[in-house]
Amino acid sequence: MKHARYYVPEIETMSADAIHAMQMKKLREQLIYLSNRSPFHQDMFVAAAMNPDDVSSLDDLAKLPFTEKSDLRKSQEICPPLGRHAAVDMIDVVRVHASSGTTGTPSYVGITQFDKKRWIDCIARSYWAQGLRPDDVFAMGMSIGFFVGGLPLSNVVEEIGATLLPIGTGASDRLIASIQRMRATVLATTPSYANYLAEIACEQMGVETSELGIRHVMVGAEPGGGIPSVRKQIEANWNAKCTEAIGNADVITIHSAECEAQDGCHFMVPDYLLMEIIDPETGVVQSMAAPTVEGEMVFTHLDRQCNPVLRFRSRDQVVVDTTPCSCGRTGPRLRCIGRSDDLLIVRGVNVWPSAIRDVVLGFQPEVSGELRIILDQPGPMVAPPVLIQIETADASPAGNLAERIKQELRAKLIFSAQIELVSPKSLKRTEMKAALIEHRY
Ligand SMILES: [Zn+2]
Repeated sequence: MKHARYYVPEIETMSADAIHAMQMKKLREQLIYLSNRSPFHQDMFVAAAMNPDDVSSLDDLAKLPFTEKSDLRKSQEICPPLGRHAAVDMIDVVRVHASSGTTGTPSYVGITQFDKKRWIDCIARSYWAQGLRPDDVFAMGMSIGFFVGGLPLSNVVEEIGATLLPIGTGASDRLIASIQRMRATVLATTPSYANYLAEIACEQMGVETSELGIRHVMVGAEPGGGIPSVRKQIEANWNAKCTEAIGNADVITIHSAECEAQDGCHFMVPDYLLMEIIDPETGVVQSMAAPTVEGEMVFTHLDRQCNPVLRFRSRDQVVVDTTPCSCGRTGPRLRCIGRSDDLLIVRGVNVWPSAIRDVVLGFQPEVSGELRIILDQPGPMVAPPVLIQIETADASPAGNLAERIKQELRAKLIFSAQIELVSPKSLKRTEMKAALIEHRY
């Protein structure tokens, strides 16, 4: 019988000192493993003129270079299928996932039997913290395939003992019908698909998703779930609680999740990942001593067999709250601000696309919630005014709507926008990650 509150209490409530000692011990073992098994990482040690024995502190770790997503992709091009960082033979690989990323060819992520068990153990803590229990009927509304969200989360639902409905994406009507017939209580999906589903259920099937009996929508895979206005919309559409979890396709499906206090996502896996927070501009590691720390998450696996990463730049920008939480979990709490790749700098002011969306959503019900930020040259520097297409909810919106949104964006985010209102349903919907930026160059 699991503890009522924690799935693995000894890890979830471990003191900072004990976590540090555990991580240093595991890091040392992992680095020795990498230097023995991974040509990719052997090169990193040589380039830094270091041996695994030289790393006995976080400061030592910071002397090793970062790994970029492009490095992993290149490693797989040179040495297919899983790259020079594979670290195991194919016979030991039990499954391969693909991470699409925002650009270019996918990178493939292999897991061994050991890695699979570690994922299940680590992710189960997050799903338990969010409130999934054995009496739940869980509708999987994420793609079950190469996508790192589908199968691993399905494994976890079964591990916890809830009832899995492995529906996936591709047929929204089947998903709605299955929720109805099987009396699902939990829906797992992306924030944008949660709202899209509500829209088409109503229009195409005459079904109000708020009456389906879903009591909990678990979202992830894109930042929307952490944005108050997006969450409010999901909760209203489904008449359900919405919780968020954060992960990384190259590292683990979920590493951080909300507890019942719903005040940010606790970092749940200090025994699996070492997380550094860096300044994305300078690469300097930020001290975690302050109550609030902002920066980009950088990950190092602590006991990964296949495709381990060392100082991997996630490009996810977070605000970390290190103060105690009422639930008793000791993991710091993260809020995702956005992808540092997506950051726009307009006349020296940092503007996150998700913040633009939050302002625009404040104009519901006049707007539908769909929008595109149009860039005619690569970011992050963008010359004002920034062109933003915003879909209205009504075919004939109020005459001053564009001007009001423009003024609100200027007041809240301090940049100049050019608003182009577009008619209802004219912006393309997706079942997976919603793209806020459209690149036209
Ligand atoms: Zn908590």
